[in-house]
Amino acid sequence: MTSFNLADHPHRRYNALTGEWVLVSPHRAKRPWQGQVEEDAGTARPQYDPQCYLCPGNARAGGFQNPTYAQTFVFDNDFSALLPDIPQGEVGTGDLLIARAERGICRVICFSPRHDLTLAEMDVAGIRRVVDLWTEQYQDLGSKDFINYVQIFENKGAIMGCSNPHPHGQIWAQEAIPGEPAKELQRMRDHREQQGSTLLGDYLEKELQTWERIVCENEAFVALVPFWAVWPFETLVLCRRHVTSLSDMTDAEKNNLAAILKRLTTRYDNLFKTSFPYSAGLHQAPTDGQAHPEWDFHIHFYPPLLRSAAIKKFMVGYEMLSNPQRDMTPETSAERLRELSEVHYKTG
Ligand SMILES: [Zn+2]
Ligand SMILES: [Zn+2]
Repeated sequence: MTSFNLADHPHRRYNALTGEWVLVSPHRAKRPWQGQVEEDAGTARPQYDPQCYLCPGNARAGGFQNPTYAQTFVFDNDFSALLPDIPQGEVGTGDLLIARAERGICRVICFSPRHDLTLAEMDVAGIRRVVDLWTEQYQDLGSKDFINYVQIFENKGAIMGCSNPHPHGQIWAQEAIPGEPAKELQRMRDHREQQGSTLLGDYLEKELQTWERIVCENEAFVALVPFWAVWPFETLVLCRRHVTSLSDMTDAEKNNLAAILKRLTTRYDNLFKTSFPYSAGLHQAPTDGQAHPEWDFHIHFYPPLLRSAAIKKFMVGYEMLSNPQRDMTPETSAERLRELSEVHYKTG
């Protein structure tokens, strides 16, 4: 028998960022695949859609009307999941049934006035304006005394439950530090206490030594498939310098962030020649008034597609009941993403 190796034998991988595990079954990725590998031609969208509630000048719910914005546009979500003005209170402390009032603010950000674009199809200058808007919003919302965490994210594609193709993202800012960043915060704190350095900073250093999971890089940022990736083509965007949030970044770093987002999302689109769906989001330091030297700014991309524009990964069965599982190794995913062109398949 050959000795244990990550490319051939089932194994569990530890997620250093959350403390959770993922089961990897690389031998199953060698199964013959009989499914179709169809390309998604996609339907061409108009630059302006009179029915779209995000296009410039159009009407929204509640009698609001969008300005005829020329670059980016932000507004309070007309159907906010969180509200700023609610009574404080809690029930059942110390009991099995515990609930607390939660204040917050939800906003929508339009990346571009153009209905037909996505981040991958926007130019780097346009993406840079989105980065600037993220920065302003993180600072504006984070400065409010009842906002302790600002989650900026994008849900892209009908498969992800996104009903409007107009390029846009969301911000949910709230009192509590929610589940995922709270787990990461604990792990990052422990690491810094024990090592005196930051968790993702140390992790990036290891990845740069082997290059096994790196997809692309520039002067300031690296995009890679994390060692512990759960989704088939999950990636993590990391800054080479220790920054806790967009607020710490230099002008040049923000340009480099825009550039690597363009390159990564273009690779994604080119993978299955489709407008690649994903949920992606920024993980920045909590805005709870404390210093967060342990926190490393990073962006997660969680795309669901597995083998084609139509075949996605499901998180069911063992994954719902035990823990996440994948067949193709993160190293193979990184290799496939690395081989792709950075010229968008649509625009040639
Ligand atoms: Zn639109
Ligand atoms: Zn994170």
